[in-house]
Amino acid sequence: MSNIHMNKEHHWYCPKCKGTSVSFELEPHTRFHDCPTLMLNSVPMVPLGTKANLIVNYRQDYLGKDLAVTDDHGRVVMSITIERENGFDCTVYCPTAVMDSKSFNA
Ligand SMILES: [Zn+2]
Repeated sequence: MSNIHMNKEHHWYCPKCKGTSVSFELEPHTRFHDCPTLMLNSVPMVPLGTKANLIVNYRQDYLGKDLAVTDDHGRVVMSITIERENGFDCTVYCPTAVMDSKSFNA
């Protein structure tokens, strides 16, 4: 008995830069791509033909020494919201805390 895997083509586009991509996964999934308008940060795509709007939500408070995702103007990106006709999705970019050996001295 042989296993036959039928891959279904999924066509995607980025509402921000209009870039396109194709995936061949069977399971439900969302395609991401490294968007050139957001310093090549990973951004969710939407199925081709879906009316959508990509909204960049910038961080409003102090960042400190944490490492964070930024756009091409150096603004810290907190999250990205994809608005569709029947709902929305949100991708959150959590900053990475930075510490050094001095942090352990009490
Ligand atoms: Zn893009």
